[in-house]
Amino acid sequence: MYPRAFHYHRASSLEEAAAMLSQLGDEAKLLAGGQSLIPLMKLRYANPGHLVDLNFVPGTSYIKEENGALHFGALTRHAEIEASPVAARIPIIHDCAAGIADVQVRNRGTIGGSLAEADPSGDWATVLMTLQTEVGCQKTKAHRRVQLVDFIKDAYTTALAHDELVSEVVVKIPPSGSGGAYVAFKRSAPVYPTVSAAVQLSMEGEICKDAAIALGCVGLTAIKAKDAEGALRGQRLTDKTIAAAVEAARAAADPQSDMRGSADYKRTLAGSLVKRALDIAILRARGEQIEAGHIYA
Ligand SMILES: Cc1cc2nc3c(=O)[nH]c(=O)nc-3n(C[C@H](O)[C@H](O)[C@H](O)COP(=O)(O)OP(=O)(O)OC[C@H]3O[C@@H](n4cnc5c(N)ncnc54)[C@H](O)[C@@H]3O)c2cc1C
Repeated sequence: MYPRAFHYHRASSLEEAAAMLSQLGDEAKLLAGGQSLIPLMKLRYANPGHLVDLNFVPGTSYIKEENGALHFGALTRHAEIEASPVAARIPIIHDCAAGIADVQVRNRGTIGGSLAEADPSGDWATVLMTLQTEVGCQKTKAHRRVQLVDFIKDAYTTALAHDELVSEVVVKIPPSGSGGAYVAFKRSAPVYPTVSAAVQLSMEGEICKDAAIALGCVGLTAIKAKDAEGALRGQRLTDKTIAAAVEAARAAADPQSDMRGSADYKRTLAGSLVKRALDIAILRARGEQIEAGHIYA
């Protein structure tokens, strides 16, 4: 189906895009990679009267390391992150970018668009929630940084005001002795995961100094499995502590039964994926170079 007719506007700066949002009101939507918005428009679930295109704004696609953090421009494509040695400084970020849908989607879709969409099945929020992540938010004349946990408010709902946009995503580089992994179960590449799990550990010798665990697709937003994190923090990572964390993560999942599986099935899957991600994260924290691929049905 064709989308409804709309007016097309090409922004030349992020400030100008924010000003256009302010002038055009609720009828206006930003266009980044179009990988969520265009399908919704074609199905006529979204019918914006005005599209403000960000794709011609210079200097919005970059990956750089600055002051102990990785900075991603809002328009940085998943594929650019997948291919970037700078982004690979945080291996869980590479896992995420490389596992999103297929090459076509990764070539167009952007990290900023993905976080702004706040799809409960989206990969970026789940992964970035295990790291110290801030989202740069731009208005015409003001800029602020919001912690990711405060940025995602609900399914498809963020802290962005109508005339505000994502300008940048900033992720603190974890200390040495850290390791993370992101794994998902998917029916095939170009679909969202059935369930996903992100684990980020910080080790001091044999002791787990800090742990962050997030679950995707099993709630209205990515779920931080706090009890599971607590089961690992300050502990030796033995079979017993790992089993306790897996069980706590399973209990934290809050899935709905749908065409991808029953709620019980997804809860069990969440536990298995956390175990798999933990095993890889532990090896990576020891400095081993391990691939973490998704599991396809
Ligand atoms: C077949 C298919 C499979 C997919 N599978 C997956 C998957 O497995 N995992 C996954 O995570 N994603 C998946 N996606 C979604 C993909 O990752 C999109 O790239 C992403 O959700 C949205 O990014 P975008 O740049 O395409 O945004 P757009 O579609 O252009 O925009 C999405 C929304 O965000 C707003 N927006 C865009 N940029 C900004 C900004 N800078 N500031 C504020 N608001 C903004 C838009 O107005 C719109 O409302 C899939 C998409 C398709 C088509």
